[in-house]
Amino acid sequence: MHGLMMNTPLTVSSILQYAEQYHQDGEIVSRNVEGGIHRYSYKDAAARSRRLANGLKRLGVQQQDRVATLAWNTHRHYEVYFAVSGSGAILHTINPRLFPDQLAYILNHAEDEILFIDLTFIPLLEKIAPELRFLKQVVVMTNRESMPESPLPDAIPFLCYDALVDSESEAYEWPEVDEESAASLCYTSGTTGNPKGVLYSHRSTVLHAWASISRDALDIGNSSNLLPVVPMFHVNAWGVPYSATMVGAKLVLPGAGMDGASLSELVDKEQVDLLLGVPTVWQGLLQYCEQQNITLNPVKTVVIGGSAAPLSMIKSFQEDHDAFVMHAWGMTELSPIGTINSMNRHMKSLSLDERYQLQTKQGRPVFGIEMKIVGTDNQILPHDGDAFGRLMVKGPWVISRYYKEEKSSLIDGWFDTGDVATIDPQGYMNIVDRAKDVIKSGGEWISSIDLENAAVGHPAIAECAVIGVPHPKWDERPLLLAVLKEGENVSKEQIIDYLSDKVVKWWLPDDVIFVTELPHTATGKLLKMKLRETYHGTFSE
Ligand code: ADP
Repeated sequence: MHGLMMNTPLTVSSILQYAEQYHQDGEIVSRNVEGGIHRYSYKDAAARSRRLANGLKRLGVQQQDRVATLAWNTHRHYEVYFAVSGSGAILHTINPRLFPDQLAYILNHAEDEILFIDLTFIPLLEKIAPELRFLKQVVVMTNRESMPESPLPDAIPFLCYDALVDSESEAYEWPEVDEESAASLCYTSGTTGNPKGVLYSHRSTVLHAWASISRDALDIGNSSNLLPVVPMFHVNAWGVPYSATMVGAKLVLPGAGMDGASLSELVDKEQVDLLLGVPTVWQGLLQYCEQQNITLNPVKTVVIGGSAAPLSMIKSFQEDHDAFVMHAWGMTELSPIGTINSMNRHMKSLSLDERYQLQTKQGRPVFGIEMKIVGTDNQILPHDGDAFGRLMVKGPWVISRYYKEEKSSLIDGWFDTGDVATIDPQGYMNIVDRAKDVIKSGGEWISSIDLENAAVGHPAIAECAVIGVPHPKWDERPLLLAVLKEGENVSKEQIIDYLSDKVVKWWLPDDVIFVTELPHTATGKLLKMKLRETYHGTFSE
């Protein structure tokens, strides 16, 4: 017998409609790409999104057409988010930090006919335009005064965003769309092979937002003031545009200002209490605060994900800024949230040192996500905090198949994350490494992440990477590459000495090489494949 309750569809437009009705006074504050700050309410944003939805219709955008964006976190991008998905088309956010040939590949693979673009990225568009087989029109996300000359052939209309929106009526009925239909599309950055598309549905987007606002997840409510530094071009800024709208939180969007000065100014002026972003961004912000001798007073919580949050960063936020680091793990294929390490009953019961140690773990799955770890023959491994294996997940916001691929991405209904992890008896998951980055030394495994996190605690080190390098006797041995902070001088021996009481002896790197910079992926992660190529021969002589 079926239950006898309504089955109303879970759609992206329903989030905005709710906000328009119940969060009229909630604010969206955005740093403009042209300079200055823009400020308005959810009510205004909803009205502008409806105008834009009318504009999309006029430009010929049909249901399920892909609409591409190359844009920062701004109020205009926010409007595009809701207008596109809300009208039944598919929002395709693109990461401008990808290599130009990857960008062209993605735009062609998604068959994007229309592109919304920030002023910053027009030179990039000019470069790749000859490769774009489907592009028919471009909308520049700016006002009339700042509109540049078109660098494109005349056949491609080059429109002004504000002119488009202003010329349309606010009267627009959001269509009823199937909750299973596609709402947005993000490509993984593809460190190997071509990027792959992850196609989120309306239902998965709403469920993910619903789960992420809860107390033991991101803990976002109506009185939160949050600043997603994580870009809206990377996994939809971890779903924050949807979750913030659901509860009517004050949403502070940093535009192109990702540097320490711009971020700390916004934090202070807008009384931001929740920050979200990857460790590399926080490195810059923490360094800036240290140099300027300022603290991030209003901030209570910093959500860190995308790469492991080092212990030193967790401590620095707590001790210098009185801000709790909420470590989280996820990936594009999970919309992205998988686990969150929140301030729960258990964490509250710990001493500060024990708590810091726990915070370096990536946390427990939020309700909706199931997890297991498996060994080389797919056998299930125990959740004892010691056994480690490939992390497999399932849930209503986890991918089942990549866009335009026939083959399912699942193994017996589970998605293989490509991460190696432990899970302890209380369900805390700890990422040991990416499967491809684990260092195999003498039949044992060394976690490059653990070594990096230990090394970056050295006061002279700004950033570092550990890679496995082929070794005639041990198969692979760890090599540490370190970027020193400005004006610092330290020897290899001093670094190894510093590490010697932090990791077991056989984990100690065989060598330390000082470099001026490290290569990163488009999402700010260390590009270890490149490092492995460069330093391949280091231990073979
Ligand atoms: P990309 O597009 O660069 O693959 P994703 O955000 O999808 O970007 O990357 C997901 C991967 O990032 C995860 O599989 C994991 O390896 C890594 N990752 C994410 N969060 C964490 C974390 N808190 N600690 C360690 N690694 C993380």
